[in-house]
Amino acid sequence: MDIYTIYPQCGEFKKITRENFESDTKKGYPWYRKTGNHQSHYAICPSCNNPIEIVRLYPKTIDSNKPYGRHTKHSISDLAEYDRAKLSTCPLYRPITFNKNNKKHDIDNESFNIIKLLARDFYKIALFCKQLIGVDLSKNKLAQMLERYFLEQGYLYSASTTINIPWMFLYFSDSTSLYSQKITDTTLKKAIVENVPEAFISDQGYVERKDGFVMINIAFIHHRSFKKNQQAGEMLNMVVTGRTNQVIFEKEIIFDYDAYQNFLVGHDLDYQKLAISIIRQIIPGIPI
Ligand SMILES: [Zn+2]
Repeated sequence: MDIYTIYPQCGEFKKITRENFESDTKKGYPWYRKTGNHQSHYAICPSCNNPIEIVRLYPKTIDSNKPYGRHTKHSISDLAEYDRAKLSTCPLYRPITFNKNNKKHDIDNESFNIIKLLARDFYKIALFCKQLIGVDLSKNKLAQMLERYFLEQGYLYSASTTINIPWMFLYFSDSTSLYSQKITDTTLKKAIVENVPEAFISDQGYVERKDGFVMINIAFIHHRSFKKNQQAGEMLNMVVTGRTNQVIFEKEIIFDYDAYQNFLVGHDLDYQKLAISIIRQIIPGIPI
């Protein structure tokens, strides 16, 4: 893997480079430590929170290979405990197809942190998702999606982490009607015009009714992880269906953790309040 964190479960991470690692750790314990007669370097996997070793931070010979992180499969004292179950579902560890029904029984620390970040960053998540899928979803639609995410308990899903929140929001939002939503992606617009005869796209880009009932839905399916040329990550598919569930548009979405982390928007208190009210309704008494 090419990312790490030194603060687990905060939803933030950095690229593994010597500069980042040195300035984060100031070359101190517990990240730098002596093993036998050489220095080892450790951090935490931002996805599964297991300890990782940073390999080739100071290569013996000058080469073009970059340093990378490797799960240690044992605890590193004063840094992180080894959690075998979490490692087995870590998308940065090995490619797997996740099972949507694989969920924790209760809200643990990690799930609680995910819920807090969802509420705090709901505006950022909304804007990021709109851009990602090419649909300018209304606030009302986004609220319904968040409600479904919580009814589906997306925060308990074994592969939900503090760095894949916007994609898990989409994944657990189930099926959303695109009727009267604004489409910004030109390929998707074209697919709707060609395949949904009862609808048309207005000059402003909204899906409008020509005649009859407009049946057009968007959903996110097949969450899985992959490994390609040392690059590990997660992906899912966006599918848009028309009448009789016929697929009219499909695309793969690779989780770009970096793009989300660097997606800068201001705070919108209204979105945050909206998210909190939805969460409190579904999980009464949650201290957020
Ligand atoms: Zn991991």
